[in-house]
Amino acid sequence: MPYVITEPCIGTKDASCVDVCPVDCIHTTDDAPQYYINPDTCIDCAACELACPVTAIFHEDSLDEASRKYIEINANFFQ
Ligand code: SF4
Repeated sequence: MPYVITEPCIGTKDASCVDVCPVDCIHTTDDAPQYYINPDTCIDCAACELACPVTAIFHEDSLDEASRKYIEINANFFQ
């Protein structure tokens, strides 16, 4: 059950999360609208959730209904 980056990251891409992630599982590209967490390598440490200045990152189990689509959006980036 990984952490997931959601809508507030779009247009923000602050990247504070990237600096604190101990397993380097948060990535993006210049063209992508947001950052994404690789669900296969996230170790659920919660460091990114605390670092995010726009409250875009949640544990998968804590997502509200409108944000659950970001589980797939994050995973698809790494396909
Ligand atoms: Fe990285 Fe920890 Fe956030 Fe997972 S919960 S993306 S391991 S900082």
